[in-house]
Amino acid sequence: MNEAKIVVVEDEPSLVETLAYSLRKQGYTLFTAGDGRRALEVARQQQPDLVVLDVMLPGIDGFEVCRILRREMNVPILMLTARSEEIDKIVGLEVGADDYLTKPFSMRELVARVKALLRRVRIDREEFAATPNLAAERMVFDTLVIDLSRREVSSQGVVHHLKPKEFDLLVFLARNRGIVLSRDLILERVWGWEFDGGSRTVDVHVRWLREKIEANPSDPQRIVTVRGVGYRFEGDV
Ligand code: CA
Repeated sequence: MNEAKIVVVEDEPSLVETLAYSLRKQGYTLFTAGDGRRALEVARQQQPDLVVLDVMLPGIDGFEVCRILRREMNVPILMLTARSEEIDKIVGLEVGADDYLTKPFSMRELVARVKALLRRVRIDREEFAATPNLAAERMVFDTLVIDLSRREVSSQGVVHHLKPKEFDLLVFLARNRGIVLSRDLILERVWGWEFDGGSRTVDVHVRWLREKIEANPSDPQRIVTVRGVGYRFEGDV
C-alpha cells in the first residue's frame, strides 16, 4: 500500500520539506498544505489515506482541522505537537486523532508511525473483506509467537495460558503495534460497544497479560504504558 496518498499540514517550510522528502522516499504520494483552510481543501480534493497534521497552524488550528476531517471522512490522522500537555486533548474524544508525535521527532519515527497507521487501516479493511484468511496467520515478535489459528501464545516454545479476552487483547495490541491505543478504543474494539465495564477492565487485563508474556512484568518491554492515554505494543514482526 505504498501508493498511499498522504497530506502533510504544517506551516514551517523547512519541516514540510523534510517530512515530504522522507515520505516520498518511502513511495508515498505527497500533498502539502501550509494552513488549516488549505488543509481542508486538499483533503477534500484528494481523499487521502492519511493526514499528518500540525497543531499550531495559522488561521484554523490543527485541533479544528482534525474535528472537521473526522466529521467528513474516515481518514487516520497523525498529529504533531510541540507541547506534551496537549496529548490528552489530541487523542481524546473531543479531537480524536489516531496518533501523535511530539516535536522534535526523528524522520525514522515518523515513517514508522505512518506505516503503522496505514497498516491498521489495511487490516481493518481486510478483516472486513476476508476474515477466513486471517485464521491461518501467525505473528512472531522475536521470541513471542502468536498463533492466530490455534489461538495460542508462546515464548521460546513454552505456551502461555491466556484467557480468551487476554488473547483477543494481545492480538489487537500486536496488530496495532507501534501506535498508541487509548483505553476507550481498546475497550470498544476488544470488548465491544455492549460491554459496560469501565476502562479499568483494560488495565487489569494488561496486567494479567504482562504477568504472562513479559520477561519482567514490572518493567514491561512489550506492552508499554503511555501515561494518561493507554498502551502501545512494541515489536517488529
Ligand atoms: Ca506549526
